[in-house]
Amino acid sequence: MTARLIDGREVAASVRERVAAEVVSFEAEAGRPPALATVLVGEDPASQIYVSNKHKACAEAGIRSLNHELPAETSENELLELVGELGLHDEVDGILVQLPLPERIDPDRVVAALEPSKDVDGLTPANAGLLAHGMPGLVPCTPAGVMELLRHEGVELEGVEAVVVGRSKLVGVPVARLLLAANATVTVCHSRTRDLAEVCRRADVLVAAVGAPRLLGADAVKPGAVVIDVGMNRTADGLCGDVDFEAVSGVASALTPVPGGVGPMTIAMLLVNTLAAARARV
Ligand code: NAP
Repeated sequence: MTARLIDGREVAASVRERVAAEVVSFEAEAGRPPALATVLVGEDPASQIYVSNKHKACAEAGIRSLNHELPAETSENELLELVGELGLHDEVDGILVQLPLPERIDPDRVVAALEPSKDVDGLTPANAGLLAHGMPGLVPCTPAGVMELLRHEGVELEGVEAVVVGRSKLVGVPVARLLLAANATVTVCHSRTRDLAEVCRRADVLVAAVGAPRLLGADAVKPGAVVIDVGMNRTADGLCGDVDFEAVSGVASALTPVPGGVGPMTIAMLLVNTLAAARARV
């Protein structure tokens, strides 16, 4: 079997087009475009690129973006003050604090200080709680992107065995909750899971969110499974996922590449969340 490639770039482009069209009608009704405020502390080059890509994507979708760049020496209190101000700012619909933050700053405190209705990364305890309770809220962008890819591919989720490898607050846990909400039977694996490959082989839908290059090989994949690789690992021979792409494409029925799979979906879903946050405020 040769797996069908799940083209995240194509799906993300269609999501972004849809958002751009909906932004036009939002602006006609609200008299202003939706607005996203980004906060970047320090000068980490990778974070600078991520933030600048988010601004570009906003501009293309007609979303206004406001850039707050703070020096690396910024104190936790100063950052909390800015986050508080943005929460009250009438023209700001979404707030994104780029992670990681400098070591002195506790990211949990900063995230918890975000106004939940503007938390377009869906990371506040309030939004995580809403997701856990199956109530509407802002869903983290990468997990929302995973679900959009599965929806776009027409993957049946009801009653299927889904295995998520990774239990982070950012990816693994919210993906598992979303799959559960879609009525899949969900197993979550982590670093203490015994015989990872055997558990993964149960999956009709396998989601890898680990951060370990090519951890999952052909022996971890049930023939015909749909495999979503969230991993983004920089190695000597370039960027790769948590799944051994070559080996697994001979076993899975559909598979996301890295790059070009889940990655492009994250920014697309940030635009979806910003528009949703703006709509909820007018
Ligand atoms: P994380 O916070 O480091 O979490 C990694 C998870 O993997 C943890 O739950 C850990 O288990 C588990 N794990 C580690 N080694 C394992 C092993 N050998 N077997 C089974 N489980 C193992 O990472 P994250 O933020 O969720 O990100 C995961 C990956 O996705 C990274 O490569 C990251 O770069 C990528 N990512 C991509 C996007 C995108 O847009 N494409 C967005 C976010 C993240 P414990 O809990 O037991 O430690």
